[in-house]
Amino acid sequence: MTDRTAELAENLARVEARIAAACAAAGRAREEVTLIVVTKTYPASDVRILHGLGVRHVAENRDQDAAPKAAACADLDLAWHFVGQLQTNKVKSVVGYADVVQSVDRPKLVSSLSAAAEREERELGCLIQVALDAESGERGDRGGVSPDGIEELAAAVDAAPGLRLDGLMTVAPLAGPYAGEPRAAFDRLMDLSTALRATRPAANMVSAGMSGDLEEAVAAGATHVRVGTAVLGVRPKLG
Ligand SMILES: *Cc1c(COP(=O)(O)O)cnc(C)c1O
Repeated sequence: MTDRTAELAENLARVEARIAAACAAAGRAREEVTLIVVTKTYPASDVRILHGLGVRHVAENRDQDAAPKAAACADLDLAWHFVGQLQTNKVKSVVGYADVVQSVDRPKLVSSLSAAAEREERELGCLIQVALDAESGERGDRGGVSPDGIEELAAAVDAAPGLRLDGLMTVAPLAGPYAGEPRAAFDRLMDLSTALRATRPAANMVSAGMSGDLEEAVAAGATHVRVGTAVLGVRPKLG
């Protein structure tokens, strides 16, 4: 085992223990929560090691970084999640490797993703990114639509060929009433998910929780946690 493999194995075991403990504390089965490892800024060699350690879901937030990495790992059975703010001029590339885009936050992006998915003749999973600190009708600084914009986007995804509405995603806000209150933020996301599932039961993914707040996300009911730093180490700036 290389030093890096040992390091990632140890970190992964620690994160796994945290998720298991959080599930136990919440009275949830461990299988209800999927770990997505956020590999942004780290090399394809790390993705390959993680796959060897049993990881099957990875996430990236910049197409320039993700596209060559996904190409270098095309032989691995991995689900690739795109979690960054997505410009429409990157959509064609992203749809070439992503299985799920978690950062759907505006109608123009929906039509662009749909056109690309149709061209590739594939079905793309979509999560609507919710900005819990955005004003009504606005988008947040880190992407995401305000809660009152969810229905419009859900309807757009429903109507878009090549796209499948899988659920909701959020990042705990750094500003506004939810700043420093990840549990309250994730509870709010769960309420929004409950409302969405009332008419769209299949859209049951709830992606919330990162290295610092995965316990709060699992307690609130998240189905997917996105963990970077706790598995791979502290990223150099600009991650
Ligand atoms: C980077 C990132 C993560 C992982 O954050 P860590 O704090 O490193 O675990 C999760 N979600 C999104 C959207 C990210 O950009």
